[in-house]
Amino acid sequence: MKREDFPVGAVMKRVLVAGGAGFLGSHLCEYLVGQGHHVTCVDSFATGSLNNVKALTGSNRFVLLTQDICDPLPESVTADEIYNLACAASPPHYQADPVHTMMTCVVGTNNLLALAERCGARFLQASTSEVYGDPEQHPQREDYWGHVNPTGPRACYDEGKRAAETLCFDYLRAGRADVRVVRIFNTYGPRMRPDDGRIISNLVCQALAGEPLTVYGTGEQTRSFCYVTDLIGGLVRMMAAKDNPGAPVNFGNPGEFTINELAELVLKITGSSSTISLHPLPTDDPQRRRPDIDRAHKLFGWQPEIPLVEGLRPTIEWFARETRKARQRIPGAARLAAGSAGRLPEPVAVPRH
Ligand code: UDP
Repeated sequence: MKREDFPVGAVMKRVLVAGGAGFLGSHLCEYLVGQGHHVTCVDSFATGSLNNVKALTGSNRFVLLTQDICDPLPESVTADEIYNLACAASPPHYQADPVHTMMTCVVGTNNLLALAERCGARFLQASTSEVYGDPEQHPQREDYWGHVNPTGPRACYDEGKRAAETLCFDYLRAGRADVRVVRIFNTYGPRMRPDDGRIISNLVCQALAGEPLTVYGTGEQTRSFCYVTDLIGGLVRMMAAKDNPGAPVNFGNPGEFTINELAELVLKITGSSSTISLHPLPTDDPQRRRPDIDRAHKLFGWQPEIPLVEGLRPTIEWFARETRKARQRIPGAARLAAGSAGRLPEPVAVPRH
């Protein structure tokens, strides 16, 4: 599509989404292409999946570039807007190669910031609630500096993301790029990887397979879960805002649940008779987490609309569908399929943006 073909009055942008084949990135790419923009999806496929963007590859407004952001981007790449979502985000995945995680956050983010500077592109950095570490303030406001162990197994991600924020605000202060930083709290929805290792994907897959639900520690630690479409709405508002907030903005759902409550909810919705099995709490696992979203609300009128119980249904249905597909591909070999026959929930509509 050429610029001249775009609807009168609308502005087609060239948007680069790093990490565009991942869970959040693919939902963002889909939204942006749907809005008529030209999207370049950059992904190393370390944790992203071609399946996530398969439906977009037929569009002439979607380009896929297989590339690790730690390597310099080709000179030919250009953009009006850059979203940096490229980094493994689940503890088992980001800890599998911790040095690469840190490099992705620092070297990779710097490469993309340099691209933004060269193109004059607006830049949005996906930061994380992990910058607050195991927080001593509750709920977490953006002006809280956090409580992070700089030498523990989570540090490659937590400190990497903190360093990336530092780079972002240095580029902004120096006038080198219009950089915005969002701090994303736990987000869930269709296209999470079944082997992601995070709480929602683990519990849902285990419940569907009739396996014990693995709860770490006492299960009394808390998290706040945001449905993916709510989150994407926040990211695009932050990018679109005429004035740069000049400070990080939290995006997440303030509804706070213990892991035990979440496990009970998953059992109830799936109708699974799985049991719960307790496992040791991972090192430095944050005990409480809930975003203060006043800033996002005041700046953009943003607040999440989909409560956990509603968002879990399409998420569970999506995992159930993936399970069926895997079972068809390799009969009897799908880990997720075991024991789940006959207990799959009925299809439900996925909420739209
Ligand atoms: N957790 C759990 N069982 C699992 C996976 C995670 O009890 O199978 C716990 C984990 O210890 C943490 C919470 O669930 O307290 C959220 O973990 P997750 O890995 O989803 O994300 P985090 O917020 O820790 O990055």
